[in-house]
Amino acid sequence: MSEMVRVRFAPSPTGYPHVGNIRTALFNWLFARHNGGAFIVRIEDTDVARRVDTALDAILDGLKWLGLDWDEGPGVGGAYGPYFQSQRLPLYHEAAEQLLRQGDAYKCYCSAERLKAMREEQARCKQPPGYDRYCRWLNEDERSRKEAEGIKPVIRFKTPLDGKTSFEDLIWGEVVFEHCNIDDLVLLKSDGYPTYHLANVVDDHQMEISHVLRAEEWLSSTPRHLLLYRALNFDPPYFAHLPMILGSDRAKLSKRHGSVSITEYREQGYLPEAMVNFLALLGWSLDDKTDILSRDKLINSFSLERISRTAAVFNHDKLNWMNGAYIRSLDIDNFTKRALPFLEKYLPADVERPLPIDYIRKIMPLVQERARTLAEVPELIVFFFTERLDYEAGNLIGKKMDRASSIRALEASKERLGGLSCFDVPSLESSIRPLADEIGLKTGQLFGTIRVAVTGRTVAPPLFETMSVLGKERSLERIEKAIEKLKAHEG
Ligand code: GLU
Repeated sequence: MSEMVRVRFAPSPTGYPHVGNIRTALFNWLFARHNGGAFIVRIEDTDVARRVDTALDAILDGLKWLGLDWDEGPGVGGAYGPYFQSQRLPLYHEAAEQLLRQGDAYKCYCSAERLKAMREEQARCKQPPGYDRYCRWLNEDERSRKEAEGIKPVIRFKTPLDGKTSFEDLIWGEVVFEHCNIDDLVLLKSDGYPTYHLANVVDDHQMEISHVLRAEEWLSSTPRHLLLYRALNFDPPYFAHLPMILGSDRAKLSKRHGSVSITEYREQGYLPEAMVNFLALLGWSLDDKTDILSRDKLINSFSLERISRTAAVFNHDKLNWMNGAYIRSLDIDNFTKRALPFLEKYLPADVERPLPIDYIRKIMPLVQERARTLAEVPELIVFFFTERLDYEAGNLIGKKMDRASSIRALEASKERLGGLSCFDVPSLESSIRPLADEIGLKTGQLFGTIRVAVTGRTVAPPLFETMSVLGKERSLERIEKAIEKLKAHEG
């Protein structure tokens, strides 16, 4: 690429950071990093009524969590600041004034009531919605009268009445919009704040943005923007509109489909590197077979050519699978470190804090194969920390076993284990495995009964490893308790 790549992520702080927006941020970031360009974060906070105080931090935290560092923007500054639109109002006023002077814009005095009545009338007559250009045709006298009434006007763009605007989208190819379908959009609101359209165009120009990569939902705004670029005599950037993200039912991804805020994924124990990998594949691919791609590989291979036009489907099962794969690839220290905050938070309050880190390091390898998220880990290992194992006595009775044979199995195991001087996996294996045969049970039956006795569960990490970590004393105590439980059990 000959010219310097400068791309931006331009969130509006109106709510939580939606994964769709974060996907946009990621694609911009990958494009910048791939091309040695700049990734800019610009906060589009001009919709005062919809601004949410906590949104900005949540968005920036989400980017930081994923490692999407920005070269210019909040907290880091840059030569093109300020990076908050609310601090750039004079620039928008200047542009609006210029358009007024040139005759490309006009003041509109229509009241909210008039616009409402107009919309209702349009709906009733099944006409397309849009401003009817009433004020575009006011003469000098009428305008002075409105001014004298003290009405605070908005400034609207004079969209050409006929003709069309076409452009070459880097993903969609040639896109054409007829001007007759574009109304006279508001540029400056009566509160002095610009609309998204004006601020977006002015800033993309002022910040020398080379490529606009944004969601497909903005595609229909682009001809309006191009009309503004032309009227303001600015060179437009390249545009690339990213495909939609759908839920598994092929409806636009929304809360209905589960979590959509990136912060929730962090809280649910997804790894940022898995999330980056997963989001990168929502609309982009390396080929038709590679799923696991490291951050470096993504940066090296990212290109607009491999962005699809087909809507991407957010598949939670795939995300869980991928997160599990990333969890399995961590070394034990790293896995332990990452899981620790979840253990602190979710292990029962009566488990002693600080948590015994050396003990935890022994447990973690036993669940690394099975955990799909870090938040699942506490539940998978809680029985290592508490003697309160809530299970039904009936679970101790395996297939084709009865109460008596289960008691016998546990008593024989207890005796055998009691005689062991070493409680490591090979010793456990060589003492318990042959026992099944000796007492006329299948290994599955015997192991199942012992498993429930020592873990309280029918599904748990590998049995001998688990018992070895628990130690002889606790394993035997649990078996003893299970025997008592069975004895007290009816039938
Ligand atoms: N502020 C817009 C948003 O929230 C930016 C759209 C664009 O990238 O132009 O998505």
